[in-house]
Amino acid sequence: MTDCIFCNIAKGEVPASVIYEDDRAIAFLDINPVSEGHTLVAPKQHCADIHEITDDEIAYLYKVVKKISGAVKQAMGAAGIKVEQNNGRSSGQIIFHFHIHIIPTPQKLSETTKDRFDETAEKIRKLL
Ligand code: 5GP
Ligand code: ZN
Repeated sequence: MTDCIFCNIAKGEVPASVIYEDDRAIAFLDINPVSEGHTLVAPKQHCADIHEITDDEIAYLYKVVKKISGAVKQAMGAAGIKVEQNNGRSSGQIIFHFHIHIIPTPQKLSETTKDRFDETAEKIRKLL
């Protein structure tokens, strides 16, 4: 275990509802979603933010974001998809391991959203 939660998720040492993974990237549901299907895409190798990540790595991650966005949109029956990425505390970044948010819009949550993470992840995975 490291002290970086997303490194631990990437190594499979902390559980997450994983939607996609390969040797460089992992996508999983946000534990505190702002919308049902809220997904995070992160590199497996640690880097803090946009200022640290290499051009090659960020380009690869956005390819993954593009691929996953279609599945998230369809699985959630969303009208749109918001893609967000925070850098620095003042931007709202709380996890200092680079990641990109995929947020279905209009943003919808229900009381059971957090109880259905596995079901939601499975719905998205099936469309990839
Ligand atoms: P940031 O504000 O840094 O751009 O976004 C970090 C996101 O990570 C937040 O939306 C937060 O809910 C999510 N998050 C924090 N800890 C965990 C965790 O342990 N597991 C998962 N799946 N998401 C997390
Ligand atoms: Zn990390």
